[in-house]
Amino acid sequence: MNSNIPYVPASYKSDGFNCTFCSAYAKQAWGHPNRNVSGGNYGHDDNFAICRCDRCGNFSIWIKEKLIYPPSLTVPPPNPDIPEDIKTDFEEARTILSNSPRGSAALLRLCIQKLCTHLGEKGKNINADIASLVSKGLPVKIQQALDIVRVVGNNAVHPGQIDLKDNMDTANRLFGLINLIAGVMITQPKHVEELYKNVVPESQRKAIEKRDSS
Ligand SMILES: [Zn+2]
Repeated sequence: MNSNIPYVPASYKSDGFNCTFCSAYAKQAWGHPNRNVSGGNYGHDDNFAICRCDRCGNFSIWIKEKLIYPPSLTVPPPNPDIPEDIKTDFEEARTILSNSPRGSAALLRLCIQKLCTHLGEKGKNINADIASLVSKGLPVKIQQALDIVRVVGNNAVHPGQIDLKDNMDTANRLFGLINLIAGVMITQPKHVEELYKNVVPESQRKAIEKRDSS
């Protein structure tokens, strides 16, 4: 998925969102199925709805305006440039979010610690790692946001630790911050490098590199 396209989470009776099955942004059709039990038709119940994705054809199930199936994947998928082992933790955090926001947040803090290591930091002290990333171009505003969700700062929670103060809101912000850090520190430099290679011929690149290193 292109990380520049905004992710639209699934919401009740919305006619378009990023599908909870195929992840694509797609048209969604809604209906209330009849309750057929032992040959009797008990009509439909407004509390019970199904929604069909126009792209993959799968049906999600909603009760009282809440997504029941598939397990709540109402947050964006991981940035594709995140290493596989961190992606696995991120995906698990997405899967458990609706039932355990605190478990989800604990996994996500672990993801941030691992991401720091992947970005060349020591991975022992997250405050020091994030400060170092700021010196390498991570915006200070991201550091401040990490302070608010207690990844860094005086009230920081140890990565992987369950914290009673965590909730759905904290977990949602952590998902966004991980993708933001990966976007700034991995995806953007990669795109700039590709652009540079496409725009500047190799002979000129060598001349520029030689000039800048002398
Ligand atoms: Zn779909």
